[in-house]
Amino acid sequence: MTIDDAPREALRGGPRDLLRWVATGAAVSRADLSRLSGLSPSTVSQRVEALISQGLLEETGAGRSRGGRRPRQLGVPTGGAVVGAIDLGAHHARVGALDLSGRVVRARTLPVRIEDGPEAVLGALLTEVATLVGNHPAADGAAVAGGSAMADGAAVAGGSAAAGALRGIGIGIPGPVQHATGRIVSPSRMPGWNGFDVAAFCAGRVDVPVIVDNDANLMALGAHRTAHPELDHAVYIKAGTGIGSGVISSGRLHRGAQGSAGDISHCRVVADPAPPCTCGNAGCLEAVASGAALVTALRGQGVPVSDLTGVIRLIDDGDRQATALARQAGRAVGEILAVVVNFFNPQVVAIGGRLADCEPLLASMRATLYERCLPLATQNLLIERVAAGQDTGITGAAHLVIDHVVAAV
Ligand SMILES: [Zn+2]
Repeated sequence: MTIDDAPREALRGGPRDLLRWVATGAAVSRADLSRLSGLSPSTVSQRVEALISQGLLEETGAGRSRGGRRPRQLGVPTGGAVVGAIDLGAHHARVGALDLSGRVVRARTLPVRIEDGPEAVLGALLTEVATLVGNHPAADGAAVAGGSAMADGAAVAGGSAAAGALRGIGIGIPGPVQHATGRIVSPSRMPGWNGFDVAAFCAGRVDVPVIVDNDANLMALGAHRTAHPELDHAVYIKAGTGIGSGVISSGRLHRGAQGSAGDISHCRVVADPAPPCTCGNAGCLEAVASGAALVTALRGQGVPVSDLTGVIRLIDDGDRQATALARQAGRAVGEILAVVVNFFNPQVVAIGGRLADCEPLLASMRATLYERCLPLATQNLLIERVAAGQDTGITGAAHLVIDHVVAAV
């Protein structure tokens, strides 16, 4: 299934904003929504009724009176596992069932062998989503009756009622995704996945909307909605085995024309010698600063390290070679990020992924950023770690689905 972007809301106060304000606790009543949006009470009421009729909002009881009739309080139905999410990594996948506020109801991390190919890997992960969603007590599905059932509902043992409430599945892929089609295009380190149509494959297995995006975009969306929904312009770097970024512009995920916006992995950095990259060029950021690059570089220096976990352990232990490479990686990320910050002028730059806890990398990234940026661009710039942890990706995936559902109201 192909999912187009939700139509742009020219002003604040569209159904998506109303839902977000209630979900974050900024608003608990129609009066609050009217005040926040600047819309008339009748327009707000109309939109709230539409959201309630779709099971996206509910009335939770009476609020405090200011003299007249006590206003009815609004809430987002919570607890029901109605959104499925998959955050696929190079060796593991985080799979979750979330509610309509984006809260994780249940989640699991599964080992993945990406080289087994897309059908085997995605097939197993979709089954896991069905299990996580279907395990939930059917009563929670009542608030969202009318949703579509999983096509292969037979796999959802004993959970057909809750599975019937599933609104959609968001999937993050650790490689470039053409947004309009949900197709993977020239990924590094994903043999057998090039050109694979993830959306079409999933559409043949489930009959709810499936939205596919790259993992850095999901992390960006999850981190933004969790930590800084009030900031309009943000850049999120995901530094793990690979390296990428997601961009929030005017409060929305910015994908560009094809979906490749924010893909900094093959930007060239100053490196001598310039290591060869999987894309065929040399000196790409990914070939210098990604977790995979650090593993390769250390092995090249005769250090017997098998994976990124081993590299991080060496850095934590203060190993001289590993620490020097981490600093070099931080400078490379800082160089590219300085261009991005000068060009885009974000309010916050946050780094996530497994290398985000690597102090020498972070310190040299920060120093390079201040050295290379215009003072005006860094004056009030927040530079921080992505705080939400291992569920940031699935949270972003759930918000993709929630935004899609709300856009249809
Ligand atoms: Zn490259």
